[in-house]
Amino acid sequence: MDAAHMGADLEKVLITEEEIHARLEELAREVWAEYEGKDLLLVGVLKGAVMVMADLSRALPGTAPVDWMAVSSYGSGTKSSGVVRILKDLDTDITGKHVLIVEDIVDSGLTLSWIKSNLESRSPASVEICTLLRKPEAAKVEIDVRWVGFDIPNEFVVGYGLDYAERYRNLRVVGTLAPHVYA
Ligand code: 5GP
Ligand code: MG
Ligand code: MG
Repeated sequence: MDAAHMGADLEKVLITEEEIHARLEELAREVWAEYEGKDLLLVGVLKGAVMVMADLSRALPGTAPVDWMAVSSYGSGTKSSGVVRILKDLDTDITGKHVLIVEDIVDSGLTLSWIKSNLESRSPASVEICTLLRKPEAAKVEIDVRWVGFDIPNEFVVGYGLDYAERYRNLRVVGTLAPHVYA
């Protein structure tokens, strides 16, 4: 399936590649203004955050180490339960470090709020969150997200790291899927 065919599976494009990159450039400047001179560690949550991490980290005006976590959220189907299991932990000891969690999307917020508390229990200097997307209407827990790329409607989206059955992560845009894809 080529890019044109993947595009045909979309119902609509919510955010274009240009919009994503322009916003990540802005966020990178704001992030750097906060962390320049500090012991910053970028933590990505696999697999969805891969694209955001790649572009946000490269837009930073300086360098910072990158580490990854993989978690699985117990729950029925596509609903997040907030009960989380670590599949791959950080390689880094974060004691005393300023941790920035880089995420693709905050939906219910349950997974991320679990990850944030888990990291906070390891005596870091700080833990903040930067996410490309947030669905304000889907929030189930209050979670302080310091940097948000775009607030989007409460719809299932794919692309730019986000999957449907592990596909569409490599789309350059963020969009909703056409009904025939689910059929
Ligand atoms: P939570 O509900 O705990 O905030 O979301 C947990 C995870 O569910 C996200 O990190 C993401 O992987 C997935 N998720 C939430 N909303 C969407 C969506 O609209 N599209 C896709 N593809 N994944 C989503
Ligand atoms: Mg994610
Ligand atoms: Mg997924």
